[in-house]
Amino acid sequence: MGATPRNTDCIFCKIIGGEIPCSKVFESETVFAFLDIAPVNLGHALVIPKGHYPQLGELPIALGNDLLEALKVVGNAVMQAAKAEGLNIGMNNFEAAGQLVMHAHFHVIPRFADDGLTLWPSKKYTSMDEMNSLAETIRNLIK
Ligand code: AMP
Ligand code: ZN
Repeated sequence: MGATPRNTDCIFCKIIGGEIPCSKVFESETVFAFLDIAPVNLGHALVIPKGHYPQLGELPIALGNDLLEALKVVGNAVMQAAKAEGLNIGMNNFEAAGQLVMHAHFHVIPRFADDGLTLWPSKKYTSMDEMNSLAETIRNLIK
C-alpha cells in the first residue's frame, strides 16, 4: 500500500499523531477511532484511516477489511456503551455534503427510537423512465 500519507495541516492527522488530544476508543495498525467532540448523540464516534485520504474516492481498497472490522467493533461497543437501540454509519464527502474535515471519516452514531432525529427527506422521480435512465447512466459509468 506504500507509505502512509500524512497532511501536517490536517486536524485528524494531528489527532492520530498525538499533537491534539482526543478521547480514543480504538486503534489498529491502519485505523483509529475517537469520540466526536460535537456528538449527534453521546457516544458518537469517528472511525478514520490513519493515512490522510481526503474522501472515499482516495481510500485504498486494501483498507476495506480493516475499516469494516473497525466499524463493526466500534459500532457494537458504542451501541452497548450508549445503551442505544440503533446505529447510523455515515460519511460526508465534499463540502456540499457537509464534509468539514477533509480526512476521510465514518460517523458512528448511536440512535434511540425517541431521539427526535430524522434523516434525509425523500424526493420523487417524475417517472420510472427517468429513474431507469439515471440507473443506466450510473451503470455505464461503473463499467
Ligand atoms: P464532517 O462534517 O463529516 O467533516 O465531520 C467532522 C466531524 O469532526 C464533526 O462532527 C466535528 O464535530 C468533528 N471534530 C472536529 N474537530 C474535532 C476534534 N478535535 N475532536 C473530535 N471531533 C472533532
Ligand atoms: Zn489527515
